[in-house]
Amino acid sequence: MAKKIVRDMNVESKKVLIRVDFNVPMKDGVITDDNRIVQALPTIKDVVARKGKVILFSHLGRVKTEEDKAGKSLAPVAKSLSEKLGQEVLFVPYTRGKELEKAINKLKDGEVLMFENTRFEDVVGKKESKNDPELGKYWASLGDVFVNDAFGTAHRSHASNVGIAANIAEVAAGYLLEKEIKFIGGVVEAPERPFIAILGGAKVGDKIGVIENLLKIADKVLIGGGMSYTFFKQQGYEIGTSICENDKLDLAKELLEKADGKLVLPVDLRVTKEFSNDSEIRIASFDDIQPDEMGLDTGPQTLKNYGEILKDAKTVLWNGPVGVFEFSNFAGGTIGICETLANLENATTIIGGGDSAAAAISLGFADKFTHISTGGGASLEYLEGKVLPGLACVDEV
Ligand code: ADP
Ligand code: MG
Repeated sequence: MAKKIVRDMNVESKKVLIRVDFNVPMKDGVITDDNRIVQALPTIKDVVARKGKVILFSHLGRVKTEEDKAGKSLAPVAKSLSEKLGQEVLFVPYTRGKELEKAINKLKDGEVLMFENTRFEDVVGKKESKNDPELGKYWASLGDVFVNDAFGTAHRSHASNVGIAANIAEVAAGYLLEKEIKFIGGVVEAPERPFIAILGGAKVGDKIGVIENLLKIADKVLIGGGMSYTFFKQQGYEIGTSICENDKLDLAKELLEKADGKLVLPVDLRVTKEFSNDSEIRIASFDDIQPDEMGLDTGPQTLKNYGEILKDAKTVLWNGPVGVFEFSNFAGGTIGICETLANLENATTIIGGGDSAAAAISLGFADKFTHISTGGGASLEYLEGKVLPGLACVDEV
């Protein structure tokens, strides 16, 4: 069934509560990456243009104690948003109370208000993060309708998403959420084929659910990065000092058996003797790793093989860097994957996963993908086939 999207919601002269993901990285009160603010603009601008009264809120970081509040105010975000929107964003430094209620009631059509970090409510009794029923009800009472556009927290049942949704007449998804449903949801539900998944990253343990679910859906699952070595070791190969989860060997065996030939492992690797950017590199076949060597990147033959498999793909989902891309000398595999995907002509290419998204962006490929998911944990859980509470609470149409 399809979800109600904000464009289908009548917002004129209504108090529109919008849950956004403004959990931006900050250093000394300065926003170091404003991508999440930029991503929220389409929904905010649309509601403003249609004369809704916009009431924005978000969490920022984790807040457990009164001291944690330092540096976690959303005030700098309100300022940045105001510049981007070209209109005033009235910031109210509270999460509840008379001042907030008065400010909301004074809002005119098309005006924008933002209130303080929702996790300030976690200091006493974790009200936001534990979805305290009274808090969700209270926040819901501040508006007429609710738009959820925070994909980054869609895998959580919090008062500011699920709690409000349970207590308000109408719930729609914002445009960012719509995009995530279309692309990440599309992969899980009805991918255009051939559908190839590329899974890398440090550990198999983090990705069990994703591998299992994608083995059911994808035509091939290409494995890369640190998780490869657990598979190699399980098959009896020497992996030297490469990263390995010895408690996941049985799991690796089970996955290989279940995969029925769909799982493809690297055939060569860039190995070295120290975990450092400067130590000498050798290209080794997967069955020729020496006891004092560790694999830190994917080799050229593997990239060629993966390129062959990917060339006719219609859908590609990539999660997890295929090497230690943080070291420039071991970024080649991850760059190779980016280049291969950038050159696919007829494929929908999607990145899900925090570090893979960061890798693609920092390596200069941000605009070469069809979609780069804005949620790390949320996109992983979505790919595992789990129901995300923040999506489930949006009305169906
Ligand atoms: P994502 O956040 O995209 O889901 P992960 O968190 O699973 O990705 O993995 C990212 C990390 O995996 C990176 O920090 C990278 O350095 C690491 N990694 C990739 N390949 C290796 C390897 N061969 N050895 C050790 N770490 C690796
Ligand atoms: Mg990660």
